[in-house]
Amino acid sequence: MIFRLACGDVMPGCAASFENTDKSLLLEEVARHAAADHGIAEITPEMLAAVDGKIVQAPA
Ligand SMILES: [Zn+2]
Repeated sequence: MIFRLACGDVMPGCAASFENTDKSLLLEEVARHAAADHGIAEITPEMLAAVDGKIVQAPA
């Protein structure tokens, strides 16, 4: 299973997208991207829920 997230689904206008077979690693990547490119130092539980809801699972 591959987990995919298009950042633009959460942050309109962002072209970044991520995929990883490990959902927690995917979320770490997204957190790094959010800090580096969106100035989001801390992912709140609300943001995490929003991000989590946009993650798409695809067969590997
Ligand atoms: Zn982004």
